[in-house]
Amino acid sequence: MDKRTFLKVGSLAGAGIVATPLVSSLLGCGSAPSSGEAPHATTSEGFTLPELGFALEALEPAVDRMTMRIHHGKHHAGYVRKLNAALTNHALSGQSLEAVLAAITVSDTGLRNNGGGHFNHALFWNILTPSPNPQDHVPSGILAERITANFGSQEAMLTELAQAASTRFGSGWGWLVQDTHQPDRLFVASTPNQDNPLMTGIVDAEIQGRPILGIDVWEHAYYLNYQNRRTDYVAAILDRVNWSAVAGLMA
Ligand code: MN
Repeated sequence: MDKRTFLKVGSLAGAGIVATPLVSSLLGCGSAPSSGEAPHATTSEGFTLPELGFALEALEPAVDRMTMRIHHGKHHAGYVRKLNAALTNHALSGQSLEAVLAAITVSDTGLRNNGGGHFNHALFWNILTPSPNPQDHVPSGILAERITANFGSQEAMLTELAQAASTRFGSGWGWLVQDTHQPDRLFVASTPNQDNPLMTGIVDAEIQGRPILGIDVWEHAYYLNYQNRRTDYVAAILDRVNWSAVAGLMA
């Protein structure tokens, strides 16, 4: 948590309001570029590409080294670069990624594709792990309780999530989402392209919320190793989820 976030959380807590860090701040996404000239803008170099928490080959055989190198170093880096370019001298300068995503409308193609692309991939890298500790390999604590309450069992949640990701037509994402208004409620969703549940101006109301797990089902995520076998790729990804990291993103 940086100093500014800490102060913000601290002051809200002092006022009796429980403030939860933004997912994008937990993921180290940065904030929209700003010149610092606007009276209330925060000086910022812009959104940044988060480093992977593991080596490029560490997810093999689930995800091969070449796919990881291109996916993180080319695709994700490209989303960050184009997002910053689209936001330079923009009214949203200095804003959080959540604020940017919430402000996007259907006509904002550049922000939609690249803002979504940045958030979605930062989330994806964060919830993957090469070799889960036993305590990370299955949901536990309040996350496990919420999964059981909403889906009946962890197996039922995994089945629904795998189905949503595997059957998304074309490019897109499968999600596990926390209801912003009812934190105990978790649900599964999928979106096309780089859309996500934070884009309140674009996605249907019933799938809006706080994404805590995302599965990339663009062909660039798996085609070198799996070709058309998306279902096998999704199963391999679900076996590499760090459920402690997912739990840490809940409000
Ligand atoms: Mn991708």
